[in-house]
Amino acid sequence: MDILISEELDSPAIQRLSAKYKVVRQGGLWKTPTELKAAIAGARAIMVRNQTQLTAEILAAAPQLLAIGRVGVGLDNIDVPAASKAGVVVIAPLDANAASVAELTMAFALALARKIPQADRSTKAGGWDRKGCTGIELDGKTFAICGFGRIGRRVAVLARAFGMKPLAFDPFVKADSPLLKETGASWVATLEEALAAADFITTHSPLTPETRQMFNTRTFALMKRGAFFINTSRGGVVDEAALLEALRTGHLGGAALDVREKEPSDGKSGLEQMDNVILAPHIGAFTTESQTRTFEAVAGDVDRILSGQPALNFVNMARPARPPAG
Ligand code: NAD
Repeated sequence: MDILISEELDSPAIQRLSAKYKVVRQGGLWKTPTELKAAIAGARAIMVRNQTQLTAEILAAAPQLLAIGRVGVGLDNIDVPAASKAGVVVIAPLDANAASVAELTMAFALALARKIPQADRSTKAGGWDRKGCTGIELDGKTFAICGFGRIGRRVAVLARAFGMKPLAFDPFVKADSPLLKETGASWVATLEEALAAADFITTHSPLTPETRQMFNTRTFALMKRGAFFINTSRGGVVDEAALLEALRTGHLGGAALDVREKEPSDGKSGLEQMDNVILAPHIGAFTTESQTRTFEAVAGDVDRILSGQPALNFVNMARPARPPAG
């Protein structure tokens, strides 16, 4: 087999690969690691989204693997050091969905500020509750951006266009970084400082041991009363029980989550019952433009690797460091 696809993925780019290579598509394979281990043993490339867990153990069972095509951005489901050690190229088009995720973040900010879901629900139910739908403006509000990478920086630029004051917190961005001037964001040294100052808080850091549950009882308590919290990064950065508590007590004004602790969510977190919470099924990158860009970039690179050329969108190495299997 040339290419194993272990999640539900489809696009014209994959159909073109199927015409050229032996592609095995098993959309539910990610659910059973033992079956994944058996299937990956014969694969020269694998294409995944964010559900397939490519651990060191799974990768050790893939002696012929040359490339991992990650159709998306977060790399928390791939053991990149293990892949690098094995000489396997990890392909991920890192900028392909930044605009889509940043726009969703702003859509959430606007929807929270203007109570759009509540207005929609009550009007469709026959109501005309103008007073109950009184919102606030984004103009003049402070927007804490936690994680000032590709997406966070785009959010800063969009937020400025709405008259907001973006604050950048990122332990890897220095106070004199040119990125601040380029985006019009102000630098803050600590997460605590960002949270205390913000009317809106959005998170755009990767999920790492340091960021896991960085939004918890302690950090929600640091936020201003009535602040709005937005997460379009990874569910694991938030302690959902602590968020629910902060909403129930009225400490937070509302929250919007595109990503969840457990995906797909079981609909029983309690957040579903909150009127001031917006939930989405991990749609940050789900725009026509982003999906097309991502699939084309990943499929193009898988094709390049399998035909002996270097990848363009790699995160570790351009060419595999193991001899191609015969
Ligand atoms: P990026 O790598 O360009 O930026 C991430 C930033 O987070 C970096 O600047 C990094 O320095 C910073 N960071 C690292 N540790 C941090 C910490 N402890 N506190 C604060 N910041 C920290 O990544 P990106 O393209 O901007 O994407 C950000 C995240 O968004 C991804 O890792 C992914 O998990 C998520 N994402 C979600 C969707 C979606 O569909 N909702 C789509 C794409 C990406």
